[in-house]
Amino acid sequence: MVSQLVSTTLVGVEARFVRVEVDLATGLPGVHVVGLPDTAVGESIHRVRSALRSVEKPLPPRRVTVNLAPGDLRKEGPRFDLAIALGVLGAGQHFPPESLEDSVVLGELSLDGGLRPVRGVLNTALAMREKGLRRLLLPQENLAEVIWVEGLELWPAASLGQLLGWLRGESRRPPVAVARALAPLKTDAPGRLDEVVGQPMGRLALEVAAAGGHHLLWVGPPGCGKTLLSRCLPELIPDLAEGEAVEVAAVRSALGQSGVPERAAPLAEPHCRISATALLGGQLPGEVSRAHRGVLFLDEVTEFARDSLEGLRTAMESGWVEVGRARQRWRYPARFQLVAACNPCPCGFFGDPLRPCGCPLARRKAYLGKLSGPIRDRLDLQVLLARPGARECWALPQGDSRLSRQRVAGARLRQKERGCLNRDLSRAFFQETGEVDADGWDFLFDYATRNQLSARAMEKLLRVARTLADLGDRPSVGDDELGQAVHFRCLDRFE
Ligand SMILES: [Zn+2]
Repeated sequence: MVSQLVSTTLVGVEARFVRVEVDLATGLPGVHVVGLPDTAVGESIHRVRSALRSVEKPLPPRRVTVNLAPGDLRKEGPRFDLAIALGVLGAGQHFPPESLEDSVVLGELSLDGGLRPVRGVLNTALAMREKGLRRLLLPQENLAEVIWVEGLELWPAASLGQLLGWLRGESRRPPVAVARALAPLKTDAPGRLDEVVGQPMGRLALEVAAAGGHHLLWVGPPGCGKTLLSRCLPELIPDLAEGEAVEVAAVRSALGQSGVPERAAPLAEPHCRISATALLGGQLPGEVSRAHRGVLFLDEVTEFARDSLEGLRTAMESGWVEVGRARQRWRYPARFQLVAACNPCPCGFFGDPLRPCGCPLARRKAYLGKLSGPIRDRLDLQVLLARPGARECWALPQGDSRLSRQRVAGARLRQKERGCLNRDLSRAFFQETGEVDADGWDFLFDYATRNQLSARAMEKLLRVARTLADLGDRPSVGDDELGQAVHFRCLDRFE
């Protein structure tokens, strides 16, 4: 007797369907798993054996063959435990096998028959919705990830015994209350930005970055508040749309973290010693994908490995990372906003009025030179931060993050009408739309001539000025906005 069930495996963040076939045949007793299983799938037989004993349906003394199809798809992890156990029970006629038609089965078993959560349950639910599969048997602990997915019949269970009772009609399945939509998250509560003392330039830069989606670089000595300011950026970014929140949650679910969709923009802050694989991804999504639709904060950015920064550049261009070798490749979403931070020089005190810097010019240049040109080109905002003075440290925090959030939301709305974030505005946009007034052009050409700016640098100024105008609800960009924008170009001064 052969039974067939459907389960899924993860390829990147995408769930692919796997048919689990179990055959009980006469012959020497034993279990054989075929279909390119990795070692974790092989181990699952031991767990299945114990779990079956716990429901008093021990593995029959037959030749058991488990086939995972398609055979050329790599299967990983203990996620097939439940499907294999139910396959054995179905083949042994312990429940009517047709009761699992249209169903997908996911879950890891413990030795006593309990069900443990697995990765990628949300990704599975999304794939099912696309394919029109209806019913999902899943571990109770994974329920929160998928409870809001419409059109699915969810069977969350705590153990194999519980599921078997339902399938045999011995006990009634409790109804699952399906949540309709994601709750809006951002409230009017004050944020962390309200705790920041001083740093008016830093706050303005955050507001501009949040409004226009601009990538941002802080340059400043140790202890000037680069990290604190960076961590405030996600709270200024407007709530994610439902589709975006689901994309973010699917990455987390594939990582085995909570896959419950949230409206808040995520923040990832990897350490500078991180490997390129952990940053960009491998078999699992990397930090750049954890920052998808949110903020990637790289402190000490000049200390990151060269190949890491190179991979970062590709992700910033396309919004995706592709990793792996010829036979196995994974593609992960990575549309993040970069916030990078570095010292002005190796010792950290170049430009400090009180502490002298002992770094020779060549070393200073080499230090900032580690930020390659193509990445630098994408950093619209380059902000010089100074260490707060003694008096400033004791001042009361100023400003109101709620007002900042309102201004950002307004600026985003104006960009939506224009069709893209200001960080993606092209040169042609400014040439064709007449959004820069005559005074603005005069100022720009004059400033660019005096400071020998490249065309690309002028573009950056225009984009930042456009965001400043949006924040102030002004229709066109003038010399005021451009005059403010030139303060966000501190790298010029270092070269
Ligand atoms: Zn120095």
